[in-house]
Amino acid sequence: MKKDSKIVSAGRDKHFTQGIVNPPIYRASTVVFDSLEHMHQASLKKADGALFYGRRGTPTQFALQQAIAELEGGAGCALFPSGTAAIAGVLLSFLKAGDHLLMVDSVYEPTRDLCDQLLSGYGISTSYYDPMIGDELASLIQTNTKAVFFESPGSITMEVQDIPKLCQIAHQFNCITLLDNTWASPINCRPFTMGIDISIQSITKYVAGHSDVMMGSATANPKYWRQLQQHSYLLGQCVSADDSYLALRGLRTLSVRLQQQANNALKVANWLALRPEVDHLRHPSFSECPGHDFYERDFSGGNGLFSVVLKPAPSVAIKALVDDMQFFKLGFSWGGFESLLLWIQGIDKIRTATHWDSSFPLLRLHIGLEDADDLIADLALGFDRFHQAISSAK
Ligand SMILES: *Cc1c(COP(=O)(O)O)cnc(C)c1O
Repeated sequence: MKKDSKIVSAGRDKHFTQGIVNPPIYRASTVVFDSLEHMHQASLKKADGALFYGRRGTPTQFALQQAIAELEGGAGCALFPSGTAAIAGVLLSFLKAGDHLLMVDSVYEPTRDLCDQLLSGYGISTSYYDPMIGDELASLIQTNTKAVFFESPGSITMEVQDIPKLCQIAHQFNCITLLDNTWASPINCRPFTMGIDISIQSITKYVAGHSDVMMGSATANPKYWRQLQQHSYLLGQCVSADDSYLALRGLRTLSVRLQQQANNALKVANWLALRPEVDHLRHPSFSECPGHDFYERDFSGGNGLFSVVLKPAPSVAIKALVDDMQFFKLGFSWGGFESLLLWIQGIDKIRTATHWDSSFPLLRLHIGLEDADDLIADLALGFDRFHQAISSAK
């Protein structure tokens, strides 16, 4: 089945939907049983979709779990109250005191903070590697290295990793391979055919897609699914039926939103590429983006998120550009229907295995569903303010 058809049908088992198009929102803590025997039977199947207790989910959550597992191509999917909780849940489910984790240097900043500020105290050590490392990864694997974590494209700097090759190396040393697959969403790459054992999504982003839900997921291959399911359950991780409903509702339009946002983003990026203020683009479709060839090989589509690196410019100019935008709002996160702009400072402080020259300002853009021409006009006025700020500072 092609991905657009799968997006419509995934998780719509009659068992969950009762025959209507979307599953009902089952709000539940307690499940009541007809008899001791019924309770016993439910207990035997509590990890396999029987109604047992609210924390284990209801058909609303089950429908979403099945949809994501099916789209990503894994054996099962666990839900978490945020993408960050999914990352923490996976790391805590598979690492223990004495283990070593190899973490990509271009990782989402809160993931780095989790490793450095929390896991370190549990006796789990982390070292960071260059996202473009290639064969050299083998030389960083220690006798206690248990897992290799990928994020591709990386946060902010957008390096695309050679996932199949790096997974092959990791598996030679019996390391589990973990991927923060949020940028690709569940439909634009095939993590399990590339050698990933567990694929993590911030559902908050494109799956929910409307800036109104916080949620995360982790989907595992058959080898690791039961451990992921059991350990995330032990950690008490669960999500509400209401949020699951919103995530499912967002999911159905994921493909058309991504295509439209990717098209808009390409128009804006092509315009930016010709601007004299721009040094280069960090957009996987552009050859100057590290790992562009891996992107062409491994991904079946893009989205609205990319970065633009400007030539060195005074802070007042960047501030004048970023303030007073009409369509681009100043805000964290991405994946909604609206355009966002961030001036990201201090990147050199969140990179330890690679070098970033912070004299080149970086703007991260999330392109929404507005008309691309309006977005370009908004940026053009921003660059006018940028130059005005430079001349009035003289
Ligand atoms: C936003 C984001 C997360 C965290 O997701 P939340 O749902 O906000 O906790 C994790 N990884 C990546 C790549 C992200 O962009």
